[in-house]
Amino acid sequence: MVAAALLRRTPGSLASAIRLHRTAAAATPIARFMSTHVTNAACEDNEPGFLGSVETFYDRAAKISGVSEKSLTGIKAVDAVLSVKFPVEIDADTHVIIEGYRAQHSRHRLPCKGGIRFSDEVDLQEVEALASLMTYKCAVVDVPFGGAKGGVKLNPKKFTPAQLERITRRYTMELCQKNFIGPGVDVPAPDVGTGPREMSWIMDTYRQFNPQDVNAAGCVTGKPISQGGVRGRNEATGLGVYYGIREFLQFPEVQEMTGLDGNIAGKTVIVQGFGNVGYWAAKFFQNNGAKIIGIGEHDVSAYDPNGIDIEAIFKHRAENGTFRGFGNAEIIDGSIKVMERECDILIPAALERQIGLKNVKNIKAKIIGEAANGPITPDAHDYLVSQGKVVIPDLLLNAGGVTVSYFEWLKNLSHVRFGRMSRKWEEAGKSRLLTLVEENAGRQLTPQERRAVIHGAEEHELVYSGLEDTMIGACEETRATAALKNTDFRTAALVNAIQKISTVTTQSGQMFL
Ligand code: NAD
Repeated sequence: MVAAALLRRTPGSLASAIRLHRTAAAATPIARFMSTHVTNAACEDNEPGFLGSVETFYDRAAKISGVSEKSLTGIKAVDAVLSVKFPVEIDADTHVIIEGYRAQHSRHRLPCKGGIRFSDEVDLQEVEALASLMTYKCAVVDVPFGGAKGGVKLNPKKFTPAQLERITRRYTMELCQKNFIGPGVDVPAPDVGTGPREMSWIMDTYRQFNPQDVNAAGCVTGKPISQGGVRGRNEATGLGVYYGIREFLQFPEVQEMTGLDGNIAGKTVIVQGFGNVGYWAAKFFQNNGAKIIGIGEHDVSAYDPNGIDIEAIFKHRAENGTFRGFGNAEIIDGSIKVMERECDILIPAALERQIGLKNVKNIKAKIIGEAANGPITPDAHDYLVSQGKVVIPDLLLNAGGVTVSYFEWLKNLSHVRFGRMSRKWEEAGKSRLLTLVEENAGRQLTPQERRAVIHGAEEHELVYSGLEDTMIGACEETRATAALKNTDFRTAALVNAIQKISTVTTQSGQMFL
């Protein structure tokens, strides 16, 4: 256990600290710009850390946003951070001290929203950076939430499910006690190392502490369906990545920059990270005719120019714990080198700072779609843009997760599945209309034709439709601002976010900014 200090039966006092003040101005410039990932193979030592990168991108957009200096300073600062250490019983004789964080970057809209990460790389700066990105992301896709993020410093692979359950529940207890969770306050979701199982434990713990809260299910999203989850949330981020890249491929300026046509079919794709986001993104690209030629994981990558079957390699990895031995695929050490292979679309879907000054000159992809948060450093981003490559930024491209989390939260507050009240009614209405059309046209539709027209939407179809509409709208807005300001797509998306947040805070009064 890299992160946790081992204790022998000494359930030490709970050390926790809440900082409820602005932190951006307080932290030293050096600390903010240091890398938090010492093992990072892609970045030079003098490149900014994750938080420094987010702030660098923000500052660039701020300059051309037309928003007042006063608002810009307020928007950039992190509102509140919670830092806790707590003991958890691992077995009859052993306790470990676990470190956990939650940062609320902005409460200009409530609740705050953002995932919880379980990783031994977690630290306060990473959580603050991710929380800031959440604020901007929600604004880009018009999801009416502030931004937050949580992290627990541990490697989940080193704990049993029972131990992880105790840790997750104890961390949630800390969030409850300090008012950092609740359907109207702060609503976590899955991120690296967490999924529906952890979200279930979080909701159940919150409910124990708030038995009167009829909206308790809305305290967390990404839950299993049986616990109030919404159909489509699991695949939402990967599906949003697919919709976003598909949309960009349609733009004439993108086709001109890349020399690519507007079709997904036939495009070659490399994905780094084969977890929730990477798996689903790869699956949607493959289902729509693209060829997945490379997949990188933390240990090795698989590469096959003839295409890799996503389900087959997923099964192989589940059974063997690695891509090694999969079909005819070439196995490459690590996940950085595979990103340097020739392809049309590169999708980093693992962690931050995967493309930096050390490897950016080797990237051959024409489109780089940021499914992960913060995978490209500012200098590497500038180099890619200078080479005419299209970088679709994280705050836009991976916003599918929070968009569908918003739908799940709405479902939880309304206490009813989407479509439950209206589906049969709409089908009956369409059926009556078809009968009139048949009578007037003098032709009977076949049962299949009839079914295709009257079919009322299932919950997942409504979710997919809402997600597609959201991603298309946000891509269009980003494109329009990029053209208006003559800037790259990341700066454009940030300009849009800053302007929207500024409008909300200014019109509500600046007192609580
Ligand atoms: P996950 O834990 O499901 O998957 C991460 C995968 O990346 C794992 O398979 C892990 O083994 C692999 N990995 C770790 N280090 C790696 C490395 N150095 N090289 C290659 N692979 C590596 O996490 P996820 O939910 O898929 O999140 C991935 C990224 O997407 C993160 O940056 C996260 O913040 C971002 N994101 C996730 C969501 C979501 O809904 N889950 C939403 C928006 C953004």
